[in-house]
Amino acid sequence: KEKRFDGQVALVTGAAGNIGLATAKRLAQDGADIVLLDIAADKLEEARDEISAFGTKVETVTCDVTDYKSVETAVASAEDKMGPIALLFNNAGYQGTFTPVQNYDPEDFTKVIQIDLIGAFHVLRAVSARMAAHRFGRIVNTSSMAGLQGPPNMVAYACAKFGIVGLTQTASKDLAPHGIRVNAIAPALMGPGFMWDRQVELQAKAGSQYFSSDPKEVSDEMIKGVPMRRLGDISEIPGVVSFLMSDDSSYMTGVTLPISGG
Ligand code: NAD
Repeated sequence: KEKRFDGQVALVTGAAGNIGLATAKRLAQDGADIVLLDIAADKLEEARDEISAFGTKVETVTCDVTDYKSVETAVASAEDKMGPIALLFNNAGYQGTFTPVQNYDPEDFTKVIQIDLIGAFHVLRAVSARMAAHRFGRIVNTSSMAGLQGPPNMVAYACAKFGIVGLTQTASKDLAPHGIRVNAIAPALMGPGFMWDRQVELQAKAGSQYFSSDPKEVSDEMIKGVPMRRLGDISEIPGVVSFLMSDDSSYMTGVTLPISGG
């Protein structure tokens, strides 16, 4: 049976992480050959083993997305080995610390913006230039609900993820004439797991009026704010990315889709 992305090459950044790896698996199941990009070389090799099980081609590339020259080299070598990149999941990210704005560490602010926003721009720029030459591309950026409504104690992350919404809108306009669609996803509270525990613990420690200082209570408070009254599971993300890359969304570009339980 023919699959959605048979014969297409997908580049996934942050591919050694939770959402990146889960989405790379889905794209491989959908028939795509996969290039896994991450800064974490060891975890990337584990990810390669997992993706190989799906039988499509897989390559890894270790790269720091904050360095645009490395990104250009990585993208060029990916295309040399695998052929034209048709699909991009632009997803590498770092959440930063949890601190009220007046005390937020400027160095951490810069780090978050450099990875989450400037890094995403570097990857989108390098890949879209090649997609434009091939006159075909489907790009999905990872924003966050923190990029649509600024949460307390996460100023750097909110700025970066709001920035991804802008990057998505402008890139969708610049790239529409070249046959490239650009959309974004905005996941909210995903768990259980390390990211969720870290977030709950750090929000409790931040000591703001918005959350209790007890992590267990913070968790309950956050879930009460979700209409569906539960955390999202990582497995609820890859299908949305696959949809946004597929012809089922052929008249959609420039949108940021919340994955947030309401
Ligand atoms: P994760 O920490 O498991 O994955 C992030 C990956 O990005 C890691 O493998 C990390 O090594 C990589 N990375 C970090 N800095 C990099 C750099 N400079 N260059 C290349 N790679 C780098 O986290 P995740 O939950 O899988 O997050 C993926 C994306 O989803 C991020 O953009 C994150 O902000 C976003 N997000 C996550 C959640 C959530 O609750 N998990 C919610 C909303 C948005």
